[in-house]
Amino acid sequence: MDSRLADVEERLEAALEKRLEKVTPLDNPATKRFLLYYNRLKGRRWPVLAKLDENVCSGCHMELPPAKQQEVHRYVSMANEPAKMIIVTCDFCGRIVF
Ligand SMILES: [Zn+2]
Repeated sequence: MDSRLADVEERLEAALEKRLEKVTPLDNPATKRFLLYYNRLKGRRWPVLAKLDENVCSGCHMELPPAKQQEVHRYVSMANEPAKMIIVTCDFCGRIVF
């Protein structure tokens, strides 16, 4: 019984360590802001993320103004760096556009 308990505790500890490794890169203001916005929006707008298709928001099918289009193109390239993530939202429906 003791050895089984020790085994389980060891596995639990390993799992917690693994979880910490995965969560740490997301622990920054930009990512938290993103998750906060995402969670707030998901009850009202679904899907929360909308692809910009020929400058039209795929969520509401409205064409975004040129400045917004440029913003989307500029920030999409930073998507691989969670710490620098910037949210660009649709002017009409509020969805996160990418
Ligand atoms: Zn939209």
